[in-house]
Amino acid sequence: KQKKLAELKDKPAITRDNFKIQLAANMGTDDELDAILDTNSDGIGLFRTEFLYMNNNSLPDEETQYQVYRKVAKKMKDKPVIIRTLDIGGDKELPYLELPREMNPFLGFRAIRFCLEREDIFLVQLKAILRAAQYGNLKIMFPLISSLEELDRAKKLLDKAKLELTEAKISFNSDIEVGMMIEVPAAAIMADELARQVDFFSIGTNDLIQYTMAADRTNELVAKLHSPYYPAIIRLIKRIVDAAHRAGIKVGICGETAGNPLLTPIFIGMGIDELSMSVGSILDIKQLIRKLDQKECKKNLVQVIKLTTAKQVKEYLKTL
Ligand code: PEP
Ligand code: MG
Repeated sequence: KQKKLAELKDKPAITRDNFKIQLAANMGTDDELDAILDTNSDGIGLFRTEFLYMNNNSLPDEETQYQVYRKVAKKMKDKPVIIRTLDIGGDKELPYLELPREMNPFLGFRAIRFCLEREDIFLVQLKAILRAAQYGNLKIMFPLISSLEELDRAKKLLDKAKLELTEAKISFNSDIEVGMMIEVPAAAIMADELARQVDFFSIGTNDLIQYTMAADRTNELVAKLHSPYYPAIIRLIKRIVDAAHRAGIKVGICGETAGNPLLTPIFIGMGIDELSMSVGSILDIKQLIRKLDQKECKKNLVQVIKLTTAKQVKEYLKTL
């Protein structure tokens, strides 16, 4: 089996009727880079930058971050690398910052909300990414956007970072693509409008399911509710994909469901542009995609969209 999977490395993720998608890797630390290169993934669809902040006793400075981002950019050559800006808060703490205790951390001061309040910290990261983007195909992605206002403020701060680099005569790539995660239901509802303001979407299903089902992703007691099979989730993902495509932008999925083989035919039916997953799943999903027919997947999607319970959805997907 291992040998068969190895042979898939250099083949594209393409269906029998020639629908091609990008199979990218999620990266939690740069230690995973070699495995990602070994698998010959189509890029890095989610570079979680939290490790740079969490594996230290203080905030990483611009130079430290620049070195890491540049190394990844260079190693991935022309393949796209989506760097997600700091997604701290929720269940991820930074002890050295002494943030206030919150009753509901996942509904609180996390990710882009934190970065928009702490411009000092955010600008350091944005500058490091802009500088490193001269050495490869880096893109910037903002997490947990809930509104057009937040996206606008994040983009203004990116402009500010560019201006400060220009004034300091430090070279950088000003053409970097800017995308956002869709992981808050409010953003999913406003997807048509948001899609006109960014170059790409990436659906973070871990959080999108948590917030749509109102079920804490870390709470065992409600784990059953944190499931991608609920029709509300399938329908919501489809709407986001359709909104992105109406606006002419690309859309991927980077939550755990991206690597769930039961859902692969559904995502192919939706015409998703990219699936980004832990590196260990990439070849299995590629093998599956190469056996699928997109026309058939579209027909199956029409049926799945009509179903009304998670049980029905899961049972149906098992027959595909
Ligand atoms: C997600 O929410 O689906 C996601 C990919 O981001 P994280 O798991 O890091 O919150
Ligand atoms: Mg998330």
